[in-house]
Amino acid sequence: MEKGHITSTYPFNAFSVTLNKRGVSDYTKTSYPIRYGNYSEIKTKNLVYHFNLNSEIRFIQGRGDDWPNPVEWVKRTMGNDWVYYSSGGYNGVFDCLGEYYVPCLSYGASSLLDARPFNLPEVTKAIDGWADAVSSLASSLNGNRDAALIDFFETVTKKDPSFLVGRARRFYEMIGGPISVLPPDTRHVDYDVIPVTIADGCLYNCGFCSVKSGKRFSARTEENILSQIHQLKAFFGPDLRNYNSVFLGQHDALNAADELIFFTARQAYDHLTLNRSYMTGATLFLFGSVGSFLSKKASFFEEMNRLPYKTYINIGVESADPATLKYLRKPISLEDIERTFERMMAVNHRFEAIEITLNFVIGENLPENHAPSILSLIRDRLDRPYPKGAIYISPLHEYEKKRYMKDALHVIKTQSRLPVYYYLIQRL
Ligand code: SF4
Repeated sequence: MEKGHITSTYPFNAFSVTLNKRGVSDYTKTSYPIRYGNYSEIKTKNLVYHFNLNSEIRFIQGRGDDWPNPVEWVKRTMGNDWVYYSSGGYNGVFDCLGEYYVPCLSYGASSLLDARPFNLPEVTKAIDGWADAVSSLASSLNGNRDAALIDFFETVTKKDPSFLVGRARRFYEMIGGPISVLPPDTRHVDYDVIPVTIADGCLYNCGFCSVKSGKRFSARTEENILSQIHQLKAFFGPDLRNYNSVFLGQHDALNAADELIFFTARQAYDHLTLNRSYMTGATLFLFGSVGSFLSKKASFFEEMNRLPYKTYINIGVESADPATLKYLRKPISLEDIERTFERMMAVNHRFEAIEITLNFVIGENLPENHAPSILSLIRDRLDRPYPKGAIYISPLHEYEKKRYMKDALHVIKTQSRLPVYYYLIQRL
């Protein structure tokens, strides 16, 4: 038992409260609900509410017959979005996503599922009604004057939905704006990352891209980065110990100077006290581009491999077909894409603590050589299957048909010699 950690449970007639509960400390892929980190819980007959160490609502899970499925839940992100975790109802969820649950988003339409959980009254009622429900429980403590319990209810009721909207706004102010997309690899930590913006804009401003800022690439200063880290530390407060992962934003952090990347990674690790996280290990995520990846020398990866993180670098390649690249208005050459692929394999083979992953798009109207061009890399250039170097496939448009996406993913996946997954574009 960790020193000073006390879990307290308060049973009442119609509900129970557990403060300082200990969840799982390793990110794990399971086909049943698990909760990570330290949190507090209110359990009623029909719903379970989880609150983080800042007493902010984090999860709601239904228990009654009304809830769509007792093994499904909703999670609130730091950007104050609610995400519904669906077990699928679709065979092969793990095959498609590398995860047992499909995060269904309340925005966009890039889900593989037809389910619309945010249209279900039980789900919207739980989300819209949590604050009133908790307030009414606070008034039925039956005279219990336990200081920790009273303090918990007072804090939770203060942190109502309008407070949480303001907090998300403050979160974005610190890092210089919303995170329009997280790397697909952040699924390994259930998207629980602390974002530090190291650079804005990107190199290509490709015509097809819906997540770009439209700005030219520009790195932040060390001073700006340190200020973000200090503000984030204060902002996350006690709940910092539930985090062990950092995302270096935004769209091409890899294009920043080596020294700036290492400076940020180390300062974040030290000041955010990742070595004292409740969660095991530490993970670093960043996006790169073909240009920034090819410009890095071998010494960069040697040093990155020595950082106290497992690092995932996700690179947007999109296609290996010149006609498709032209259609996408992505100004990179086939030769550079082939070099990127070869280098990804070499880096992944040589450096245990680094995994390079690649993104491709799929779309019904793309030129006919597009899908074969992806296979020309991930099947034809490899002599056998390799477990490292995930390939992520995302729909070119939100309106791509789900049937088409599933079929296209299946065709690529079954022939690939690298793991292939669907990329669910998720913001923070
Ligand atoms: S795909 Fe990447 S490089 Fe191209 S515009 Fe989008 S963020 Fe920028």
